[in-house]
Amino acid sequence: MPSSRRSEVRSVLVAGGAGFLGSHLCERLVAEGRRVYCLDSLHTGVIENLRTLEREARFQFIEGDVRRPRIPPVDQIFNLASPASPLHYQRDPIYTLTTNVGGTAALLQAAEEVGARYLQASTSEVYGDPQEHPQRESYNGNVNPTGPRACYDEGKRAAEALCFDFLRHSRVDVRVARIFNTYGPRMRADDGRIVCNLIAQALRGEPLTIHGDGTQTRSFCYVSDLIEGLIRLMQFPQVPKSAVNLGNSDEFSILELAGEVVRLVGYQGCYLHRPLPQDDPRRRRPDISLALRLLKWQPQVTLRDGLPPTVAWFRHSPPATPATSAQ
Ligand code: NAD
Repeated sequence: MPSSRRSEVRSVLVAGGAGFLGSHLCERLVAEGRRVYCLDSLHTGVIENLRTLEREARFQFIEGDVRRPRIPPVDQIFNLASPASPLHYQRDPIYTLTTNVGGTAALLQAAEEVGARYLQASTSEVYGDPQEHPQRESYNGNVNPTGPRACYDEGKRAAEALCFDFLRHSRVDVRVARIFNTYGPRMRADDGRIVCNLIAQALRGEPLTIHGDGTQTRSFCYVSDLIEGLIRLMQFPQVPKSAVNLGNSDEFSILELAGEVVRLVGYQGCYLHRPLPQDDPRRRRPDISLALRLLKWQPQVTLRDGLPPTVAWFRHSPPATPATSAQ
């Protein structure tokens, strides 16, 4: 694991950098003085997300596919390239699976060639519909390997396996972040995830779609907290022995979230209950004690503080195509 031990990090590649999380990460890295390359196929990301960076001399966008990466020599690589919302990743499941498995393998290979430290954006979905609550990194999950979510869940699990094989064989200095639901400005109103759906529907004055009875829970992390966690994990001087959960451990039912959105938007409509999607997890809350211990990281932004800028973003972003499913 050669040059990843270099103390001064000058250049960073962010794969998936035109997406929701990736664009915030690129902005933060440029603001810290890094030279940043963003590799993105624009599959779900949009170039408008990078508008604040277009005049930055230290920033460069490279349109390309992570499965066939051609990358400049860099000190660090963040791999965020993958569709992330159920609506998007189920639209082309083969693309999702090959991006996660083939893309991760190719990018790890590239990291080895240039001697870069590597961080993988994994997901709480590796825990599936969890039998253990809250979810600790040691929990191996309960994933349906043949269901409609498998392209993503199993793709991310295989990607984690690849990361730890490269690490065990001392080929690359690897870190794996298991990201829990994150929200904030630049989410796409058509991506079908619960925060986007509720805000977009409330702003359009439509009934708010609630899957099931709405008592299922999620925890919601504000984007700035998540980016801070990713950066601390990448900068951590030792290689962590396991993946690290990053998320907000405050747990809310979907009905509680809807109530907050209703209050903020001043919505006066009604709820429309629909069946739960297949394999939808009942409960989801990270145990973040490992991140707290290793990285001294814990979220700072409450749902009450994070929702207003998110609603403001949706008010001013282009009109959305209604989304139909997924949480
Ligand atoms: P996003 O869809 O906004 O961003 C993903 C980006 O990857 C997009 O810009 C897309 O164009 C790009 N991409 C997709 N396939 C690619 C390919 N083959 N080659 C190059 N680029 C490709 O999603 P996001 O919410 O920003 O998520 C970013 C990462 O974080 C994903 O890997 C996702 O699985 C992970 N994650 C996100 C969340 C969350 O709540 N947002 C939760 C868990 C994990």
